Amino acid sequence: MTTVGFVGLGNMGGPMAANLLGKGFTVKAFDLVSDLVAAVEGAEAADSAASAATEVDVFISMLPAGQHVRSLYIGSNDQPGVLDAMSPDTLIIDCSTIDPASSRAVAAAAAERGIQMLDAPVSGGTAGAQNGTLTFIVGGAAEALETARPVLEAMGANIFHAGDAGAGQIAKICNNMLLSVLMAGTAEALALGVDNGLDPAVLSDIMKVSSGGNWALNVYNPYPGVMDGVPASRGYEGGFLVDLMRKDLGLALQTAQATDSSVPMGALAHNLYQVLRQNHNAGRLDFSSIQWLYKPDLK
Ligand code: NAD
Repeated sequence: MTTVGFVGLGNMGGPMAANLLGKGFTVKAFDLVSDLVAAVEGAEAADSAASAATEVDVFISMLPAGQHVRSLYIGSNDQPGVLDAMSPDTLIIDCSTIDPASSRAVAAAAAERGIQMLDAPVSGGTAGAQNGTLTFIVGGAAEALETARPVLEAMGANIFHAGDAGAGQIAKICNNMLLSVLMAGTAEALALGVDNGLDPAVLSDIMKVSSGGNWALNVYNPYPGVMDGVPASRGYEGGFLVDLMRKDLGLALQTAQATDSSVPMGALAHNLYQVLRQNHNAGRLDFSSIQWLYKPDLK
């Protein structure tokens, strides 16, 4: 039986660990907030991250940002990281969305100790984590991915190998940057149509099957009342938070700077989401609330 160490049992990690338990894996779990460990029924509570990382076949982390991942694995302020406690036979899977540089730095530090690591950020949000339908976008060695596959399949429906260490993070960042641009552009076009007397539902139907068709129009319309069951039709509650989109756009800008790449659309989207958060207090709302920037009267 495969034993999995799991650190970071927040909105995503908690349900992911629960799905592993549901598929028969043994889970040794640790979070700084002990109540979150207790909430995962059937998980063995570890008393530290290092203890969750020892005597396990696979070790998964699901943490907020690059600094948390670096300090978990490599350590900080004279605190050793878990790499020093781990067996070379343990495979690391970091599912956090973080900057590719941190991901590569941790993978290199692991490799120095003979430990294999995959970066495997996810797409699919908290609903995907709960339903076990996440998409894993994986960077690292192909044979390590084959070892990880049964564990990832217990938590997700789609698994992609993007390339070497850090490639999973880059693919995820590129996708979310494009998503933000598509969402902002869709909200802008709908607002222009409505300002000029069009029904947003009629305009959406036209654009969906025309050359402006895109994912936001097809399944995630940002204009209230056009589509049932999407955040726009429930006051932008639930869904993918503006704060998380801002974080991912910040990672896109950082990544672009490192390679001297031009991302003017991504930079504009980052600024738009910043204004949305500041002027409309929308950080904890769904990212389709960007519609408010174009139609503040909808609030
Ligand atoms: P979260 O803040 O709910 O959970 C993070 C958990 O990590 C917290 O419970 C925190 O206590 C714990 N933690 C932090 N440092 C720790 C440490 N050193 N040791 C042990 N535990 C520690 O965040 P989340 O929403 O679960 O997101 C996790 C990651 O997944 C982020 O990188 C996020 O960008 C990414 N992500 C989130 C979503 C989403 O919809 N929430 C979707 C896709 C990807």
